[in-house]
Amino acid sequence: MGGFVNEQNANRGNYADVIKDIAEKAVCPFCPEQLANFHKNPIRRHGHWIVTNNMYPYHPTKQHVLLIHADHIEHASELSAKAWAELKQVIEQEAAVRNMVGGAFTMRFGDTRFTGASVAHLHAHLIQADPDASDYDPEQGLRIRIG
Ligand SMILES: [Zn+2]
Repeated sequence: MGGFVNEQNANRGNYADVIKDIAEKAVCPFCPEQLANFHKNPIRRHGHWIVTNNMYPYHPTKQHVLLIHADHIEHASELSAKAWAELKQVIEQEAAVRNMVGGAFTMRFGDTRFTGASVAHLHAHLIQADPDASDYDPEQGLRIRIG
């Protein structure tokens, strides 16, 4: 595995520049001591998880929530049973609070060469597409890169 971020997987507008900057600093942008330096949206803590709105949401999304494991781990196999249970809780809570009557939940894990993730630190996405966006393409929908 190479580093905390994968520049090849960050190919969206100014997000590519952000990831390039982080790669040069050689720090993990999702570790608690660094998160505030790179992430300006409010965060809240739910057990093992940090919950926040993505600063660089996929397009077209109505809502894009990041669920970041608080401690630096990279593979889903490192998740404790408690962390998995809390993840289920936080998904249910966020979906309820945000009135998500439909959406998607994804988690990439491990070696970013195989995942499409730009940040190796384990995190998940809770996403609701926006079919009302002016440039929404019903044939494309909202696409998530894997690999
Ligand atoms: Zn980290």
